[in-house]
Amino acid sequence: MSESTKNFIEHIIENDLAAGRRKILTRFPPEPNGYLHIGHAKSITLNFTLAQQYGGQCNLRFDDTNPTREEMEFVESIKQDVAWLGFDWGDREFYASDYFERLYEFAEFLISKDKAYVDSLSPEQIREYRGTPTEPGRNSPYRDRPVQESLDLFRRMRKGEFAEGEHVLRAKIDMAHPNLNMRDPSMYRIRHAAHHRTGSTWCIYPMYDFAHGQSDAIEGISHSICTLEFENHRPLYDWFLKELELPDPPHQYEFARLNLTYTVLSKRKLRELVEQGIVESWDDPRMPTISGMRRRGYPPEAIVAFCRDIGVSKTESTIDAAHLLFHIREHLNRTAARVMAVLDPVKVVITNYPAGQTEEFVTENNPEDPAAGTRIVPFSRELYIEREDFIEEPPKKWFRLSPGREVRLKNAYYITCDEVVRDADGTIVELRCSYDPESRGGSTPDGRKVKGTLHWVSAAHAVPVEVHNYDHLFCTPFPENPGEGGSYLDNLNPDSRQIVPRAWAEPSLQHAESGQRFQFLRKGYYCVDIKLSKPGFPVFNRTVTLRDTWAK
Ligand code: ATP
Ligand code: MG
Ligand code: MG
Repeated sequence: MSESTKNFIEHIIENDLAAGRRKILTRFPPEPNGYLHIGHAKSITLNFTLAQQYGGQCNLRFDDTNPTREEMEFVESIKQDVAWLGFDWGDREFYASDYFERLYEFAEFLISKDKAYVDSLSPEQIREYRGTPTEPGRNSPYRDRPVQESLDLFRRMRKGEFAEGEHVLRAKIDMAHPNLNMRDPSMYRIRHAAHHRTGSTWCIYPMYDFAHGQSDAIEGISHSICTLEFENHRPLYDWFLKELELPDPPHQYEFARLNLTYTVLSKRKLRELVEQGIVESWDDPRMPTISGMRRRGYPPEAIVAFCRDIGVSKTESTIDAAHLLFHIREHLNRTAARVMAVLDPVKVVITNYPAGQTEEFVTENNPEDPAAGTRIVPFSRELYIEREDFIEEPPKKWFRLSPGREVRLKNAYYITCDEVVRDADGTIVELRCSYDPESRGGSTPDGRKVKGTLHWVSAAHAVPVEVHNYDHLFCTPFPENPGEGGSYLDNLNPDSRQIVPRAWAEPSLQHAESGQRFQFLRKGYYCVDIKLSKPGFPVFNRTVTLRDTWAK
């Protein structure tokens, strides 16, 4: 990698290594209160890649200090998602809740140094005493309570002698500090709630700011990388480590979080979409969650390539969703087998083709990858083509089928439409065509030009499949800016999912494997849904169209 393409964190690490630091240890610290999304993929890619690059390691640490919002289901899904992206944390799986005893001891240490005190103001009073960004706060009347009294109260808080909100433990810093995070922030609060790992052992829980840096220190993290909203927590991060007198303290560095157009990336909003039934689940293929993208058919390698490509910066920006889709298409173009499926069929009868005859065409699976091999596609007298590929009175430059017009059937023959058959309502039910036997394989001895090539399936051999065509969940690039008084929910795309209960696919698709990815010729990239497919009856999710249909 050249100097100029290194990101600012790589420069910091290289300076630290040059200054004698031995080991690079990063961490990815999810709170198990929801499913991971593509923003987390950026953080995962960054932390694991830095560790690999500099011969270090990356810890997977569950930041599970809030008992009321966290669940084992989320822990399991997070592990599955990180592994699916291709990152291996080995035996470096940690839980902040395993440090509760250590954190408690740290807190007592700060109390005994007179750097922390038990406050007995109500939560409302504490808020009021904090002041504002322009006005200093006021000291709590309990701030100068004797060390021994705070110690005694803190021990009794642990024992469960008090109700929630009766007391909190606060750091003793400076109520006039310009940074509000430094105005005697809370360290511990009382919560009579069972924790998903520690059960009812604890009824006091550390705040994020007291748990995070200390967890980093316990694990020996060298570079603690987080998003910019924690930049003004860094003085506090450093203050705790200094006052705890811990050797070789970790350092926090902040980078810009990933924002993406046409979606929202906040667990709170994603949870709302699930809870309100706007999407079916956290892994709904329209969700920007890693599990949703997995079901949608996004290859993990393409997600990681995207995360590397967008780089790491110090300024907030929003990445165009087209940039992610570029990586998805680029990967699928190289790797997905081309197959034929007709989503909205109209029947074609080839009148001069012998009834009852079947022919087999051997076709390559992927012109981009000869190693992908070939497969057999059956052809017979009756076929289905897409209804939209025929028009009775064609405009100029129409190269698809119309009366008297010749087209090529992909890998098969040229056909010409001779007659249109309608039912009583006027709906076209059949196109009667003739074929040129000399055009087998896609060209004729006279070399005549045929511009349009259509995909098709043999009616007698085709298998029914269900198809879900997905699109962006939101219809505006910035759904979180809906204007005066509106909500991001006002910007939902009503056409984000279109279900085709019965499409017709070539027979090779009947036993396609769960998760397998294909290009449906001329239609898009599709993958076999890992949740809804049944043996012999796959459900296909549209991963992405072949071209960007949202370009301005
Ligand atoms: P959300 O804001 O979506 O609720 P979070 O930050 O509360 O997410 P955590 O589980 O605490 O979720 O995040 C774990 C790690 O992932 C943190 O280090 C966080 O900074 C990082 N992260 C979260 N969202 C993004 C994002 N959009 N881009 C980059 N990193 C992110
Ligand atoms: Mg968080
Ligand atoms: Mg958050």
